[in-house]
Amino acid sequence: MTTISECLIKPDVAYALRALVHALHLDIPEGNLGFRCPACKEPVKPVKAHFEHLKANPKCPLTPTKRAAAPVKGVGFADLEE
Ligand SMILES: [Zn+2]
Repeated sequence: MTTISECLIKPDVAYALRALVHALHLDIPEGNLGFRCPACKEPVKPVKAHFEHLKANPKCPLTPTKRAAAPVKGVGFADLEE
């Protein structure tokens, strides 16, 4: 039997989860809720309507450029600090 181990989540739902974790003062190691960038698989955090890498990754194709800031869309990881 095949099981699903990953799924997509919308940024606003991920952001709500992040806010809930923050409101409950839950201890999340390094603020990483488990969201990952769909391109480079590095941890990301939800920031309202998009995701941002927890640590800048200039090699990721979804990293915003100085000209056009394109936020990461899709599956992401979160921390509780901005
Ligand atoms: Zn990435």
